[in-house]
Amino acid sequence: MMDDFDVAVIGAGPAGSTTAYYAARAGLNVVMLDQRKEVGVPVQCGEFIPSTSEMKKIIPRVEDQEELFDINDELIKLRTDKLKLVSPKGREYIMDFDGFTVDRRYFDKHLAAKATGAGAELRTGTKFISLDGEIIVTDRGSIKAGVIVGADGFKSSVAKSKGMEVEHVLCPCMLGQVSGNFKPTVEMFFGSVAPGGYAWVIPKNDGANVGLGIQKTGNVSLRKMLDRFLETKGLGKIHDLSAGYVPISGSIPQTVKDNVLIVGDAAGQVMATNGGGIPISMICGRIAGKTIASHFEEKAPLANYDAEWRRTVGPELDNALKTKRQADKVFKSDFKLELAMRMMGLKRMKRAILCKPIF
Ligand SMILES: Cc1cc2nc3c(=O)[nH]c(=O)nc-3n(C[C@H](O)[C@H](O)[C@H](O)COP(=O)(O)OP(=O)(O)OC[C@H]3O[C@@H](n4cnc5c(N)ncnc54)[C@H](O)[C@@H]3O)c2cc1C
Repeated sequence: MMDDFDVAVIGAGPAGSTTAYYAARAGLNVVMLDQRKEVGVPVQCGEFIPSTSEMKKIIPRVEDQEELFDINDELIKLRTDKLKLVSPKGREYIMDFDGFTVDRRYFDKHLAAKATGAGAELRTGTKFISLDGEIIVTDRGSIKAGVIVGADGFKSSVAKSKGMEVEHVLCPCMLGQVSGNFKPTVEMFFGSVAPGGYAWVIPKNDGANVGLGIQKTGNVSLRKMLDRFLETKGLGKIHDLSAGYVPISGSIPQTVKDNVLIVGDAAGQVMATNGGGIPISMICGRIAGKTIASHFEEKAPLANYDAEWRRTVGPELDNALKTKRQADKVFKSDFKLELAMRMMGLKRMKRAILCKPIF
């Protein structure tokens, strides 16, 4: 007999675990599958999250953010209160911005544990292969589920299986951890240090997460660019090196089809200006989980998820995409970028960070 669930969530990242938590909390029989043997490993992230008070400024329409971002102190590596943007010539633009850093190995496990605590079943080391109606084929056999959630990241095999695939524009990134003492300031460096993107130093209590994301490599490898950055900044040896991709071309046009919902990076729910996707995927995951619950409780259409997440976070994601496209025009030259940053000034840069229109 095939295992039969109300809901199967593919991917136990922030999007999947949050969806699973809200669906399981409503009493549904939920399974979460992840191809990783250990949730949250390897870390492919800058590990920075804006504080809830900043999130309220970024996306004011999200209800009850305290409940969603109920992140206890043990998960927080360091609270930061400043954001520093550095131009190609080294001019610094420093703004107040509250946030904190986490260790994704523990943060993702915490979210998954919330879901299992609410009754969801977690199956790690299980890779989604394909979909046929309610039947999900994995490398460990098949299961059945009434509703299927693709929270399986930017490559989303679930979206592909359902013909919802869109070619995301991807920003390749490389990152790792360094040791040392750092001020509670998140630093972003722009220009040829990371063409079309930025390099970052995101402080933790015992070092920093250092990396860069770019749009065009030219002839220089990401590793070489990162080594050069580490050397120029005197950041020492990097360890736990990893790489990843951020989808930066906006959301996919259709996030619900029949009994399938697509959430998080899989749906392109990322702030295109800075690649931040953790809080957005949690916001959209909560909407997905709650929509699925009302679908089972009162036959509410699953399509409500698409409408609701677009109403809630759509305008800000669109603003971020617009700003990114404007920035792309000057990103090609350090000279133009330097000038553009001067013209924008701190006020407009802050607006860009808050996903507001800059003009
Ligand atoms: C280098 C880098 C730095 C970043 N820095 C930040 C940051 O500082 N702050 C921030 O907010 N955001 C950051 N992001 C973005 C953030 O990491 C993502 O937006 C966020 O993780 C999205 O969550 P998700 O659950 O949608 O996807 P993911 O976290 O990618 O989770 C997807 C899960 O699906 C699983 N999966 C994939 N395919 C299958 C399959 N076929 N079968 C089973 N399981 C599968 C994966 O193993 C994974 O666990 C960064 C991203 C990158 C790449």
